[in-house]
Amino acid sequence: MPSATDSIEGLRELGLGKRLLTEPAQLAAFGSDGLTAFNEQPLAVVLAESTEEVVAAVRACHAAGLPFVARGSGTSLSGGSVPVAGGVVIALNRMNRVLRVDPDTRTAVVQPGVINLHVSAAAAEHGLLYAPDPSSQSVCSIGGNVAFNSGGAHCLKHGMTSNHVLGIKAVLPDGELVELGADHIGSVGPDWTGMFCGCEGLFGIAVEVTLRLIPIPEAVCTSLAAYDSLKAAGDAVARIVREGLLPVAMEIMDALAMQAAEASVKPGYPPCAALLIVELEGEQEVVDSDRVVLDALLEQSGALHVHSTDDPEERALIWRGRKSAFSAVGWLSPDYIVQDGVVPRTRLGEVLAEIDRMSEASGIRVANVFHAGDGNLHPLILYDGRETGAADRAHDLAGQILRLCISLGGSITGEHGVGLEKREYLSLMFSADDLEMMHRLRRAIDPAELANRGKMLEVT
Ligand SMILES: Cc1cc2nc3c(=O)[nH]c(=O)nc-3n(C[C@H](O)[C@H](O)[C@H](O)COP(=O)(O)OP(=O)(O)OC[C@H]3O[C@@H](n4cnc5c(N)ncnc54)[C@H](O)[C@@H]3O)c2cc1C
Repeated sequence: MPSATDSIEGLRELGLGKRLLTEPAQLAAFGSDGLTAFNEQPLAVVLAESTEEVVAAVRACHAAGLPFVARGSGTSLSGGSVPVAGGVVIALNRMNRVLRVDPDTRTAVVQPGVINLHVSAAAAEHGLLYAPDPSSQSVCSIGGNVAFNSGGAHCLKHGMTSNHVLGIKAVLPDGELVELGADHIGSVGPDWTGMFCGCEGLFGIAVEVTLRLIPIPEAVCTSLAAYDSLKAAGDAVARIVREGLLPVAMEIMDALAMQAAEASVKPGYPPCAALLIVELEGEQEVVDSDRVVLDALLEQSGALHVHSTDDPEERALIWRGRKSAFSAVGWLSPDYIVQDGVVPRTRLGEVLAEIDRMSEASGIRVANVFHAGDGNLHPLILYDGRETGAADRAHDLAGQILRLCISLGGSITGEHGVGLEKREYLSLMFSADDLEMMHRLRRAIDPAELANRGKMLEVT
């Protein structure tokens, strides 16, 4: 068994100097991610600055049999970027350049550490934007978005990250540099890019990503509809879609989530049990006519109050309130779990009523804020970790909610990934044969299971 010093000799030979971290105080900052329940000490952290350095670092890990974890901004909410004990973290956040924006092909080529929002900032001067908008978009990286196939409020109409990635330059777990996909839609052959998106880092490290950009819409209108129950707001969502309207976003917040947002960024939402935010975008004429239909539908769905606006500042404040909700819950509770599950949109009203019942029965407060149009729930389970057994009871409730999602024909994750947190639930969704197929695919690419070992799939 080689000593820790021997294991990382190959990394030392790369001549990274101070960009190879090995001191416990330096490593501590990389021990956890957005889900602080997990914490592991890596053996070393490589602060990579180029594709060549990522290739060299992965080769060194492969030669020494060291597991490694790619890390972007560390905002994963499922333990995805937690290090493997005794392994290496390859941090990509210094590879943060938008390499080019091409307005003719409406594409951007970016390094993996580029912050999501910076892509739209670079594209704006060409009248373009990058559509996937996780609520963490001001801090999360494109590499992390690709690995988790991240979503966001506006993915209802535009699709998830995988719908906006055309090509990926990736370093496979043995250090080979490959190019997947192309710089345009419709490349020939198997969809390797699609396979890489959402692989949670198991197939290697993305070092360059070609993204699709879309035009900034001519008109945008945001409506707030207040309801006296979560069920009524959930049913309204199903009704809007049933009537054939396709808003770009449909989000719901309950009273507790609104209370948290109010304590934090003060969006001034109307007091109610549940708030539905609906956004329309497109050509002015289309938005104007859809707005008439939407107003009528909201009224018929029993909304107590409807307010629509196209004022950019007012709209920005509405979205600041929604997008700050996860972190704002910190104002209400010292600890909380951000759960991520999916149900068919038609079952929204039902699942919300059941979560409410579970919350009452367990005596644990649950705030709901979620991508209602996709049926993608984010129950925030509030607890105080200083109380004996409180964390276990909260995790138990989180598990019950996931089981409920599955029983209604949904999924254990909509966008936050399986990571470490949900590995135990995979078998509730997939048969043993399905899981074996996933393992075989993974081992075909990474026989030694070095890349992100233990994430999503158990170690075999
Ligand atoms: C307040 C808050 C709000 C959030 N809102 C949303 C939301 O609306 N929608 C949503 O989908 N998620 C959301 N998230 C979760 C998180 O921000 C996303 O999963 C995001 O994509 C993670 O990006 P990151 O750069 O932080 O990745 P990290 O946490 O660093 O890594 C995430 C995973 O990607 C892998 N990885 C990172 N870089 C690469 C790379 N270059 N190549 C291969 N694998 C890589 C890591 O190994 C890990 O498995 C939210 C998180 C927070 C804290």
